[in-house]
Amino acid sequence: MKRLLKPSTLPLFVFLVGFGFSLLVSYKTQEWIHLTEMSRLETAITHTSLLVQKRLESNIQLVRSLGGLFSGSDNVTRKDFKNFLGAHNLSQRFSGIQAVGFGPLVAPHQKQAFERASDVENFFIHPATENIAVPVYYLEPFTPHNQRALGYDMASEPIRNAAMLRALERKDVTLSSRIELLQDEEYKDGFLIYQAVFDSANVHQGYVFAAINAKRIFDGILQDRYVPIDFKLYDGTLEHKGALLYDSAPNLTNPRLSRCISLPIHGHTWALCFKADQVLDLGVSQYLPWVQLFFGSLLAFAISAWIYVLLHTRQRAFAMAEKMTYTVQDQLRVIDKNVIISSTDTRGIITDVSQAFCDVSGYTKEELIGKDHLIVRHPDTPSSTYEALWSAILQGSVWEGELKNRSKNGAAYWVHAIITPKVNGKGEVVGYTSIRQNITDKKRVEELSITDPLTGLYNRLKLDEMFKASLHVSQRHNSAFSILLLDIDRFKSVNDTHGHQVGDMVLQEFAAILRDNVRTEDIVGRWGGEEFMILTPGSDMEAATHLAEKLRTKIAHFSFSVIGHKTCSFGLSTYHVGDDEKSMVSRADDALYRAKKGGRNRVEIETSQGASTTLAPH
Ligand code: GH3
Ligand code: MG
Ligand code: MG
Repeated sequence: MKRLLKPSTLPLFVFLVGFGFSLLVSYKTQEWIHLTEMSRLETAITHTSLLVQKRLESNIQLVRSLGGLFSGSDNVTRKDFKNFLGAHNLSQRFSGIQAVGFGPLVAPHQKQAFERASDVENFFIHPATENIAVPVYYLEPFTPHNQRALGYDMASEPIRNAAMLRALERKDVTLSSRIELLQDEEYKDGFLIYQAVFDSANVHQGYVFAAINAKRIFDGILQDRYVPIDFKLYDGTLEHKGALLYDSAPNLTNPRLSRCISLPIHGHTWALCFKADQVLDLGVSQYLPWVQLFFGSLLAFAISAWIYVLLHTRQRAFAMAEKMTYTVQDQLRVIDKNVIISSTDTRGIITDVSQAFCDVSGYTKEELIGKDHLIVRHPDTPSSTYEALWSAILQGSVWEGELKNRSKNGAAYWVHAIITPKVNGKGEVVGYTSIRQNITDKKRVEELSITDPLTGLYNRLKLDEMFKASLHVSQRHNSAFSILLLDIDRFKSVNDTHGHQVGDMVLQEFAAILRDNVRTEDIVGRWGGEEFMILTPGSDMEAATHLAEKLRTKIAHFSFSVIGHKTCSFGLSTYHVGDDEKSMVSRADDALYRAKKGGRNRVEIETSQGASTTLAPH
């Protein structure tokens, strides 16, 4: 049989395809996650930048309006300043504002006079420099902490000075670089918002400013919106990042995504750097691709394993079927060789035969097919056997029995046959199948046990058995039944004159005469020595006497080898109610005795009262 695919090839292919597909899907998912993350990060960046600007804007507006206060009046007192800010509700409306103040321009030579004229006790400008000073003069809220900054010359410090100069130049607010806040002890990172102040004659008077605590203004800016996002705010540009002003989540390390943008803000530039650690609001895990790959591979493996098992099972089934086919074919061959099978159509014409049928019958298949099955019928088989057989199978029944058949060369063989009608799908008989068993050997043994070896007639044993059976039938049906007892006349002299062998030959010739001159239903056997018995079922005394006379005549006229003519005496008895074998034999024996006594070559029949009835020889 053609060999199928190796059971491992297809599963391996399926696994590789499945694995490849999983890989592709997981790669695509990874790509989608990355793109989605990047776009979410972009959104978060834009949003956060706006929030940062918005938080600053209110403080910037405050500084601008402070600037407006000073431009509108040439003599803004400390009290005016305080009132103005009090109206703005500083601490509650402006988160992150450390202090709001005003620093006037004080020329070097005016410093002492300014200190003296101050309405604040122990006011002094520090640190002392040779330059124009911008001391912190008004400051709100006026807390003890903030008071420490009073008098501090902001121009003495380069960052503040640079921011003030820029504010002057821009004529608008500006932001300083990172400064260390003097007033806050906890969070010192901060910056200042400056605006230059001019009087009504547009003469530069000084600066208003707001000190902003970076931590306090930007904390909570993202609230819960972008939990996995961290942003850092650096002073300076992207290329030259300065000091870190603010870090929203100082604990975030090893971020997966990061991006920095530059945020120009009122003449100053900040760098905003974003980092994200997890998938941003995707609703799926960043490990999804790996999960997909794992389960995809697992599924591919499971499917390929399943296919492997199926193929393996299929192959085994094929192998088994192959083996069984061979076995069945072998068996068919064995059957063909050893079982005598024949098929016929409904008329008994042979349509097929097994080799064993040909072997036993001696015909070839070609000689048998198309012939009537009667070709193997043995002439010994009575027609009644075939009539019974046909009557059974025509009714659709199975016939079973022993048949004597004849081979091509005339030899007899015995079979035990089972003949079964062949039925088509519609239930119609389309022919017959016969399975025969050769029982010739068995029959031979059987025959030997019932046959007299010298004459081939039934032996005494069989004769007794058949006598009993025939008598039984007559007893039951009260039918006629007679026996003939024969004894060759003066046989002793044959032996004496010609020898025992010639005597045996005469016995054989004698037996043949008997066998050839009786009906099929008559039973001929050797009773013993040169005595024979013939059982004639269905014959009354008249019929029996007729047969005896016929035989007596045949024998008397027969010319035996070597010895020539020889005669025989007969004693007959017939069945009467109450008879058994013994009584019948006894009466036949009496008759025979009388025949001998009466001169031999005679037929004597039984006498009921001992009277003799002799049929005279012809
Ligand atoms: P009759 O019956 O006419 O009175 O004379 P008979 O000579 O035939 O007498 P009997 O029946 O008593 O003798 C039978 C003889 O048959 C005796 C025996 O030698 C012979 N005989 C018996 N069986 C066989 C046998 O199997 N072969 C041969 N050759 N002779 C046998
Ligand atoms: Mg005798
Ligand atoms: Mg005799």
